[in-house]
Amino acid sequence: MSAPRVLILGPPGAGKGTQSGRIADTYGVEHITTGDALRANKDMDISDMDTEYDTPREYMEAGDLVPDAVVNAIVEEALSQADGFVLDGYPRNLDQAEELEDMTDLDIVLSLDVSREELIDRLTGRRVCSECGTNFHVEFDQPEEEGVCDECGGELIQRDDDNRESVENRLDVFEENTQPVIDHYSDHDGFVSIDGEQAPDDVWADIEDAIDAQE
Ligand code: ADP
Ligand code: ADP
Ligand code: ZN
Repeated sequence: MSAPRVLILGPPGAGKGTQSGRIADTYGVEHITTGDALRANKDMDISDMDTEYDTPREYMEAGDLVPDAVVNAIVEEALSQADGFVLDGYPRNLDQAEELEDMTDLDIVLSLDVSREELIDRLTGRRVCSECGTNFHVEFDQPEEEGVCDECGGELIQRDDDNRESVENRLDVFEENTQPVIDHYSDHDGFVSIDGEQAPDDVWADIEDAIDAQE
């Protein structure tokens, strides 16, 4: 397989962004992430899509899903320009999964499993580079210099939605909307469940084995 088409699933905080970066670098594929795409367009006018709010911001700060029409369009556009990819943060409900099936085939579907307790610790301690988007953690993945990105020297910030209240809501939204997506993909060709609670390098070793086994 020259440029694998990878879907990575898991709850908020499971390590999808962290591991997707490695997949993109190692296999030379595009990292397509709806979370980053939406954060870059938080204030875009979506009022013509007949949505409850006029911009993605309100949904995101509360930890609710942005309407399907908005994210479907983002993913369709990104996929049309990618050969291989790692898709991260989409689909988050069964309707999005159905849309995705019309857009592309997938070679491998990874599912990262992590307990709710651990997810809360990871999300509330997450710090993100404001320049390049690299993830750090105040305890589990400290930068060499506090508040400064190891990769590019950018400032590390806490996301607006990484507060306790929004985190709890995102985990509830995951249980209700996204867990059924994982169940749906569990009999897909190339589905592999990964223990996401291991150290990042051990999670990565399992992911590499899973992708290489498909080649
Ligand atoms: P996390 O790191 O918590 O998994 P993301 O960065 O993937 O979060 O997403 C942040 C927010 O962006 C979500 O809480 C949601 O509001 C919105 N979002 C991202 N992807 C989707 C999607 N596929 N469908 C609807 N909303 C989405
Ligand atoms: P997601 O994209 O699934 O929301 P992230 O990759 O942003 O998750 O990871 C969430 C937080 O947990 C980040 O602060 C990250 O540094 C940290 N993290 C990621 N993988 C691990 C791991 N295996 N063990 C401990 N912390 C991790
Ligand atoms: Zn950076």
